Amino acid sequence: MSNVVLVLSPDEIKKVKLHYMNYKIERSAPGVVFAAKLTDTAITVYKSGKVMFQGNGASQEASLWGMSPEKVTVSTKGDTLPPNFSSLSVIGSDETGTGDYFGPITVAACFVREDQIELVNELGVKDSKMLTDDVMRKMAPDLMASLSHSVLVLKNEKYNDIQSRGWSQGKIKALMHNQALKHVINKINPEKPSFILIDQFAERGIYYNHIKMEKEIIRENVLFATKAEQLHVSVAAASIIARYAFLKEMDRLTEIAGTTIPKGASAKVDEIAAKIYIKNGEAFLKSITKWHFANTQKALMLVNKREF
Ligand code: MN
Repeated sequence: MSNVVLVLSPDEIKKVKLHYMNYKIERSAPGVVFAAKLTDTAITVYKSGKVMFQGNGASQEASLWGMSPEKVTVSTKGDTLPPNFSSLSVIGSDETGTGDYFGPITVAACFVREDQIELVNELGVKDSKMLTDDVMRKMAPDLMASLSHSVLVLKNEKYNDIQSRGWSQGKIKALMHNQALKHVINKINPEKPSFILIDQFAERGIYYNHIKMEKEIIRENVLFATKAEQLHVSVAAASIIARYAFLKEMDRLTEIAGTTIPKGASAKVDEIAAKIYIKNGEAFLKSITKWHFANTQKALMLVNKREF
């Protein structure tokens, strides 16, 4: 399946509409002014002048319109999004903490209606990868107050329990995303998003395989894309909220451990883990870490090297 997007002049768009008139279908999606469906190609014309061809015949059909499709083929990793995607009402979801030895995995889903996009941008939400933890700490409460969202915190004890029973991180994340999305959908009901966008950590098939035993599986209008926080502010907002929840839990761990709990999984992390092991014991260390990480063995080696 391929996708081609052309940007055409108003005159050319008139010709496109005329050409596909007999194949016209009704599509009420925002920004769409005309849609048609051939046996092997769907054609969507947007108010912006973009024309999207989707399907096996996409390249051939697009080439009728006088531009070399190679130049304008949209190739994102993951699903191809409609050209006006960033201005639609979308639930985005993202997670954090998966690579950190200490602390939880958090997942947030967040609904940004089209008329809230400007507000969210004004609150400073951009590419959340560019924001520091301190900035995100300040922004998150405003986002949480103004947007329908759900944030899940999987603490270390529960994580270690299900991990030791054979659940992969992929499965854990998929279940959490599905859960968070379900919460937000219920919160905004009867309103519905145009799309749901998951910051992609697994291929669609793998994701749905992970959650196939769930009672309620969110499938409708679900798209996956990597770097999704750049594609819609709802994912960027979700990412900030997830990060905030992660940092809050790290604060709590710092408090109970009586020492600053570091992020990541570096050699510094091994050292702190060794210190905590010596001071507070193995059970305590286990209760604040992702125990199966290689850091555990490295920390134990540091402990053993010490002279007592
Ligand atoms: Mn992500």
